Amino acid sequence: MSSPKEPSFRESVDIMFNRAVALMDLPPGLEEKVRVCNATYTVRFGVRLRGEIRTFTGYRSVHSEHMEPVKGGIRYALGVNQDEVEALAALMTYKCALVEAPFGGSKGGLCIDPREYEEHELELITRRFAYELAKRDMINPAQNVPAPDMGTGEREMAWIADQYQRMNTTDINGRACVTGKPLNAGGISGRVEATGRGVQYALREFFRYEEDKAKAGLSGTLEGKRVIVQGLGNVGYHAAKFLSEEDGALITGVIERDGALFREEGLDVEAVRNWIIKHGGVSGYPDANLIEDGAKLLEQDCDILIPAALEGVINLSNAKEIKAPLIIEAANGPVTSGADEILRNKGTVIIPDMYANAGGVTVSYFEWVKNLSHIRFGRMQRRQEEARHQLVVDQLEALSDSMGNTWNLEGSFKDKYLRGADELELVRSGLDDTMRIAYQSMREVWHSRDDVTDLRTAAYLVSIDKVARSYRAKGL
Ligand code: NAD
Repeated sequence: MSSPKEPSFRESVDIMFNRAVALMDLPPGLEEKVRVCNATYTVRFGVRLRGEIRTFTGYRSVHSEHMEPVKGGIRYALGVNQDEVEALAALMTYKCALVEAPFGGSKGGLCIDPREYEEHELELITRRFAYELAKRDMINPAQNVPAPDMGTGEREMAWIADQYQRMNTTDINGRACVTGKPLNAGGISGRVEATGRGVQYALREFFRYEEDKAKAGLSGTLEGKRVIVQGLGNVGYHAAKFLSEEDGALITGVIERDGALFREEGLDVEAVRNWIIKHGGVSGYPDANLIEDGAKLLEQDCDILIPAALEGVINLSNAKEIKAPLIIEAANGPVTSGADEILRNKGTVIIPDMYANAGGVTVSYFEWVKNLSHIRFGRMQRRQEEARHQLVVDQLEALSDSMGNTWNLEGSFKDKYLRGADELELVRSGLDDTMRIAYQSMREVWHSRDDVTDLRTAAYLVSIDKVARSYRAKGL
């Protein structure tokens, strides 16, 4: 964790914001309006468990309501506190603006170690927390829409959606009160892996530009690049899986709570993940070296470092030792503002959190739209698209016959061409498009302004400008 000399997470976000805003020309007051967190609600509630009443503390913070609903995950972790939730809510505002998801920023958290509770106990706690938030419209399809974050997933989102719907039986859009739900409870294909998939798309887009790769001293494609991932949870696992299986990257290191695994030739991501699920950590995994002080592996030589666990892990105490020329912040706030400065001066390229992990909120946006339209993406068009493609294929094959040749189109081409897109393909296409366009908007600022030397500042400039325009347009 960060050393005492370092600012808190929220202060760190504000320092990075201030660096960017100093390069802008915003009217007095508007700058502060964009930066401050509008409101934070703290709730303490009791749940009867194991023969006694236990009190839990939860938060829901709303950073910016320039667009509504506001959006942001709910985190379950013992370290959750107001400062952290406010920092994460601010990042949500900037993230949504950057990827053009029409939401304000919010975030929630509950101080709990979910591993200490049985499933039925977690359900009781989650439903009670959801009740407390929903009755104050802090869960509401039009006002505030949570999603999963560290320590929560589809299961918790299904409980929250059900709780809201029990309390609002006539709200026809009730399912849109939360995203990241399982498919059978109103979820969308591709949401579980969306954040990790977004990390993959972000890296692919970065690797399309020679100029950008050169800034990190890298060249070529993702094939064979040595990658170290911290946190093999939802985001880290999917990012590592897709990068190794589809892009040929080598996952040389995995850092978890109980230590880190290292293998120069690359780890089997699936096997490591299964080991963690079965044994609760990486210790004892047979096909790699175990490093007991896991965080030390952040300093190992590699091409790409993916912190995908929690904030503040690259800080004043280790920033100088980081060797990776490219860091992609899959987690929120993994690099403190002090470390950011050290790394910038060293020439390390950082693909910032507000862009790198925006795949989650992007697909959440698609899920929310699906819930409001009450229809699965592709349901109306898919077969019609297939029929029109069939017409083209039939016509081509008939034409060739009349010319005396047999020009049967190749089977694999026909299979691909004739198949209409299903929901998952549409979601991936929408996500890829979003990640590409957002990257291009950042890199344009990065390359066109002499006073912008890093992608984070560029990302802030793009998103603050959008939020500021929105406040100006609607009035404060
Ligand atoms: P998760 O709970 O699924 O996984 C977190 C992983 O990190 C777990 O495997 C855990 O064991 C590991 N971990 C925890 N503490 C660690 C430590 N000190 N050292 C090493 N590993 C540690 O959480 P997640 O949903 O994958 O979220 C990870 C990060 O990504 C968070 O910063 C979160 O805010 C961010 N994020 C998540 C989403 C999403 O859709 N889930 C979207 C955007 C951003």
